[in-house]
Amino acid sequence: MMINTNRKVELIDITDKVQEEVRNKSISNGICVVSTPHTTTAIIINENESGLISDLLNLLNKLVPPGADYNHNRIDNNADSHLRAMLLGSSEAIPVIDGKLTLGTWQRIFFVELDGPRQRKANITLIRQT
Ligand code: ZN
Repeated sequence: MMINTNRKVELIDITDKVQEEVRNKSISNGICVVSTPHTTTAIIINENESGLISDLLNLLNKLVPPGADYNHNRIDNNADSHLRAMLLGSSEAIPVIDGKLTLGTWQRIFFVELDGPRQRKANITLIRQT
C-alpha cells in the first residue's frame, strides 16, 4: 500500500484500507501483519483521538528532542526520526476472524511518518489459518 505523507511527523489511520485488503484476499481466519520497510516510519495501534495524538507527538518531542546532539546527524541529520521509529516499532500483527480484523472498539491502525513528507509504503502480509 502506497502512502503519501504531508508533514514531518504525522499519524495516518490506515485501518479501513487494511480491512479492505483482508476482504479482497477473501481470508476468513488467520493473521494480518502490517509492517513498514522504512527506518523512519512506524506502525502502531491505538485510539484515533486528536488530543491523544497531540499527546503522543509531545511525548516523542520530550523523549527524543529534535535538536539534540546525535551521532547519526553527521550522516543525514535525521537521527531523531530513526530513534522515534525504534521506540514505536515497525509492525503489528492482528488476528483475523470471519474476515474481520479483531480490533477493539477504540483500536485503529496508524502509519506513523517521522521524517516526511515523502512517498511511503506499508506492507500487508496475510497468513491464512488452515
Ligand atoms: Zn538517517
